[in-house]
Amino acid sequence: MNKQEFADIIFGDKPEKRAKWFELFKDPVFVPKWNVTLEQTREDAYQMLKKVTDAKIVSVTDFLHDPTNIFTAHEFLGQVNPSTGTKFTVQFNLFGGTVVGLHTERHKYLFPKIDNLSVIGCFCLTELGYGNNAVKMETTSTYDDSKKEFIVHTPTVLSQKYWITNSVCHANYAIVFGQTIVKDKNEGVNAFLVRIRDEKGQVMPGVKIVEMGQKLGLNGVDNGALYFDKVRIPRENMLNKYADVDESGKFHSDTKNIPSRFFKVTERLVSGRLCIASLAMGGTRSCLYIGIKYAMQRMGVGESGLSDTPIFKYQLQQNAILPLLARSIALNISHNRTKQIFANPQGHEHELLMMCCIDKCLVVWNFDKVITTCRERSGGQGYLACNRFGDYLALAHAGMTAEGDNRVLMIKIAKDMMTNIGSKKSALPAMQFCPKNQIPQFHDITSLETLLDLLKFREIYNFNSLVQQIQHKTKTEKKPQFNVLMFEVSDIIQNLSTSYGERQAMQFCIDKLAQISHVPTKQTFELIFRIYGIDSVLRESGFYLSEGVVSAQAVKNAHGSLIKLIKDLAVITPDIIENMNVPVHALHTPIAGDYVKYNEEPYFGEVVNAKL
Ligand SMILES: Cc1cc2nc3c(=O)[nH]c(=O)nc-3n(C[C@H](O)[C@H](O)[C@H](O)COP(=O)(O)OP(=O)(O)OC[C@H]3O[C@@H](n4cnc5c(N)ncnc54)[C@H](O)[C@@H]3O)c2cc1C
Repeated sequence: MNKQEFADIIFGDKPEKRAKWFELFKDPVFVPKWNVTLEQTREDAYQMLKKVTDAKIVSVTDFLHDPTNIFTAHEFLGQVNPSTGTKFTVQFNLFGGTVVGLHTERHKYLFPKIDNLSVIGCFCLTELGYGNNAVKMETTSTYDDSKKEFIVHTPTVLSQKYWITNSVCHANYAIVFGQTIVKDKNEGVNAFLVRIRDEKGQVMPGVKIVEMGQKLGLNGVDNGALYFDKVRIPRENMLNKYADVDESGKFHSDTKNIPSRFFKVTERLVSGRLCIASLAMGGTRSCLYIGIKYAMQRMGVGESGLSDTPIFKYQLQQNAILPLLARSIALNISHNRTKQIFANPQGHEHELLMMCCIDKCLVVWNFDKVITTCRERSGGQGYLACNRFGDYLALAHAGMTAEGDNRVLMIKIAKDMMTNIGSKKSALPAMQFCPKNQIPQFHDITSLETLLDLLKFREIYNFNSLVQQIQHKTKTEKKPQFNVLMFEVSDIIQNLSTSYGERQAMQFCIDKLAQISHVPTKQTFELIFRIYGIDSVLRESGFYLSEGVVSAQAVKNAHGSLIKLIKDLAVITPDIIENMNVPVHALHTPIAGDYVKYNEEPYFGEVVNAKL
């Protein structure tokens, strides 16, 4: 393959940006420290964030001109430091992105301050009692016409803002979401800019910030709970692009449906899903690099009984890791395409939300699998903090939960599919081969065309089954739609969204293949995409067999092909991992470097000043 072309395709942004990030990560501030206090680990994450902003390679205004740049930043930070990546995503997407997305002229002064961290923000959406159902939050923002001010208030314990990233140590501003009460009427949820610390870093009167302490991981992120005790803010602090209270105290909004206003003001959660997917995609590439690099140098038992065989040669290792490498690259291609569509959604407006949701779900779950597999297949070394799998695992789990729980998002995707297809805004995919008369006759189902068709079949089948079941239960059995969706058809909803995502990823991969002219590079990607497709289909072989779409012989053959293709992939894996844009010099993981040299001296699990 052409290594440069391969790397550029994986990168999915202008290649010249890569060098700037690689250079930045040479700074010693990015060397992780493991045996440090909570305070120190938070300070370290902040100092890394500061280095990133000082380098001026990313701006919150990129959302207006080059959103891909923001996602690229997330990918690099996901590779190098998950805590910094999390602080970054709140500063630049949830906080900064909301300011950019909901601003009017009077808020523009904040843009450069967000870029240079003189304004550090937090995003107060979640409440202790209201996470996935945040639309029902209890925090209020009541307009006092006599003083032209809003009064932001936390009325109950359950309405304390919870999990708020950046709040305990660093933030001086918060975007607070609250039920907006104007002239005694609840106008729905809006976003308000609230100063939470003064110039000296003292917490502002009426604001209480409660330390949340140690977490499962990501301890460089300072999460806190916030209470607002009738905190007054000027009228102008309402982020008023979509709704406003004018000087005469009148509320205006073009969105007449009050619950819908919530989705307008929380639109950053859409880009947020791509940000989370980007962090996870970056982390995935690093984990694969670390796990495979170690497997290539770690010696295990050979034919003679001596420890002379790299464990990477074992089929056990290859069959565990390489299908995940293939799936990660396929999802990477799909992720890149989703980023492009986000940047230019023309023609995809109705499906952009679904695309961002499925991207986050599939990429983050895959990240989790990659980490667990690489950790396990690296033996005891994988268990050491400095080899980082634990750090990445914490990021993966935060990613599953934040910006919408993955499983809850899958419900949203299925609902949106039914709406879009029902209103003819989109259609189910069309198959090339007949699933009744043609595919069951195939002995070989491993061409990209057939694999794509099989993924389409599963999507179409799940969609039709879901619609039929809902119609039957609501119309014939007269059950309320909510009860049916939430209590009776959960599995099929989850299956439908997964099959939509896997089919779409395969489609994006095939589209990409058509753009690659260099034959060896094309062959490399084709090999990878076939492994992804066969693996996805074989995982559901019970379904395909029971529906009679594939023959038992075809399944056996596909399994044989998979084993052979994995061996082919193993041969080029060293080249692949070196060209996945991982800033290797910034990993600082002994097992991805010279772990023997590292162990010549006692470093007590640290990597600062260590020989790697
Ligand atoms: C590291 C980290 C940083 C965070 N930073 C921020 C931040 O800066 N600002 C902020 O506002 N929030 C932040 N959050 C909070 C995060 O957004 C919430 O945790 C998330 O929205 C889920 O809310 P919850 O924890 O209350 O879960 P819940 O809503 O209580 O959900 C718990 C579980 O219930 C089930 N469930 C809930 N609803 C449904 C449903 N409709 N259908 C099916 N199952 C359902 C799911 O299994 C779900 O996992 C952060 C979280 C983490 C972990």
